[in-house]
Amino acid sequence: PTTVRQIGSTQVLVDPSSVVKELIDNALDARATAIFIDIAANTIDLIQVKDNGHGIPAEDRALVCRRYCTSKLRDFNDLKDVGGKWLGFRGEALASMAEMSGALSIFTRVEGEPVSVLLKFERNGEVASTERASHPVGTTVKVADFFKALPVRKQAALNHSTKWLAKIKRLIQAYALARPTVRFRLQVIKAKTESSNFIYAPKAIANVEDAAFKVVGRDCSLQCDWTALESHGFTIHAFLPKTNANGAKIANRGSFLSIDARPVSTARGVLKKIVTIFKERLRKVNPALASVKDPFFCMNIICPPVSYDPNIEPAKDDVLFGNAELVVTVVDKLLRTYYPEAVV
Ligand code: ADP
Ligand code: MG
Repeated sequence: PTTVRQIGSTQVLVDPSSVVKELIDNALDARATAIFIDIAANTIDLIQVKDNGHGIPAEDRALVCRRYCTSKLRDFNDLKDVGGKWLGFRGEALASMAEMSGALSIFTRVEGEPVSVLLKFERNGEVASTERASHPVGTTVKVADFFKALPVRKQAALNHSTKWLAKIKRLIQAYALARPTVRFRLQVIKAKTESSNFIYAPKAIANVEDAAFKVVGRDCSLQCDWTALESHGFTIHAFLPKTNANGAKIANRGSFLSIDARPVSTARGVLKKIVTIFKERLRKVNPALASVKDPFFCMNIICPPVSYDPNIEPAKDDVLFGNAELVVTVVDKLLRTYYPEAVV
């Protein structure tokens, strides 16, 4: 059974950035408004996420690292519309972290509790020890020596820590754009003595403009405008380059797409197609932008209930729409409205 469990874990947590992603999802599911991520420069020694969410209630604490234990789905019916409600719902992430790392500990405290607790977990997800600790309402999950159980993956991750750090930064940018009212901070810890304060979004963000400003920088965000459209039960918020945007300033910023504020990959299927039609449209209204590589683009699609299933990839970074064509139609409508064709 241990082997079977481990194979499952390696699919949920493929690299250090998937640990960060799962912990951010948990913090957001706990309604956090501030999420602080601390990570060792080698991405392995320490991955820690602190949130100011509602904390883990005392009765759930013994179970959080047990596989398939989730507080989010009460019955199978809930699975019908999981996407709009929760980012996580499989009950596998913390169990996999306990299994694959050298040590997993959680500080947590709920409203009304006089003190917080520090829980240390065994590899099998059982609580090894519980002690009193100091922590505000919310939760901190601390993963030490990630991939200890898988030496090959550990070595591979160590060899590519620069790449993983870049991926983690990009991931946090995607969340910051998808959740503009949440404050995210990334701190990379260089060595025991020297902690580099690479602070990503230090101040509370009041609105989406500010979020974009923080994420893509002033140069790029000044080239863009917000636009929105409601159609067929979908609401789309998009931050798009203006028709006369400066190509150099929007280049290489990439696409940020989210479904119900869940950042998704644009590598496959309909989500990839949305990026393609954006680029086509941009090129049509301004041929000078046709050669811009990887132009900036940000879109959050808020969907009607039960219109998609986010449970198709272990990473939950892709969704299956019931009616993908309708989504494309609505996106196309927004792009045509924002980028009206030049009258020739
Ligand atoms: P899932 O998110 O799929 O339910 P996880 O393994 O990620 O599974 O987490 C297990 C459970 O632990 C969650 O269902 C939730 O009850 C609790 N939990 C995890 N992280 C947090 C957090 N940051 N704040 C509050 N509760 C949490
Ligand atoms: Mg989760």
